[in-house]
Amino acid sequence: MEANAAKPYLVVIGLMVATSLALAFTVDVNLSDEAGVKVFLPDRVGDWTGDELRFCQEPSCQASVFLSEIREPGKCPKCGGRLHTMTKIEADLLPSDTEILKKQYTSPNGQVVFASIVMSGRERASIHRPQTCLVGQGNEIENSSVLDIPMEGRDPLSVMVLDMLHRRRLPDGRQTSHESYYAYWFVGKNRETPHHITRMIWMASDRILHNRAHRWAYISVSGRRDADGAYKNEIASFVQKMYPEMLIR
Ligand SMILES: [Zn+2]
Repeated sequence: MEANAAKPYLVVIGLMVATSLALAFTVDVNLSDEAGVKVFLPDRVGDWTGDELRFCQEPSCQASVFLSEIREPGKCPKCGGRLHTMTKIEADLLPSDTEILKKQYTSPNGQVVFASIVMSGRERASIHRPQTCLVGQGNEIENSSVLDIPMEGRDPLSVMVLDMLHRRRLPDGRQTSHESYYAYWFVGKNRETPHHITRMIWMASDRILHNRAHRWAYISVSGRRDADGAYKNEIASFVQKMYPEMLIR
């Protein structure tokens, strides 16, 4: 009997929760422009030298060029088309208030590391679960692990490290493969996480409980993966030098 008597209340409570959730997601939230990091990648990271990338928006060209190769600001050196900090596909798919910056870093002994930052705008669709964009067309994730990177004067930074494998079939039929790593983490105001799901939960609770939506950044660092595991030291030492310069103090 008692269970039956409680039922109408449960329905009412359920409706109230559903209504408040619906309100939380439809009523305009206070988007503050506050972010945890700047849309910035340093020119030098230790003895690594960076060169920013620009992408041609002309559909028939879509070249990627280094800032150092550009003679006329904003103009593609190959076709004269308009240049953007994101690729044409990204510019077509992402909300227009998304900001992206990409840089290639080279060490004195010729090693290469790519770094990028994606800053979300008002819409949440700016940042996707990274795994969805990385697999397919011969690319697979062999392993994923969280790496805790010691940082000076604060708690360690946890980043997600994906061990990537790229397989290609050569014209003569032979199969080749090469290994790389893809490390990433998310940064909001006073928040950092290597997990996409944690970021989603924080965003939802900020909206529902505080009627607030901060801007989130997605930072990645990628490069070649060696067999002996030394690449994790490379990630740690690179991030230790790069990340503090991006933080908003
Ligand atoms: Zn072009």
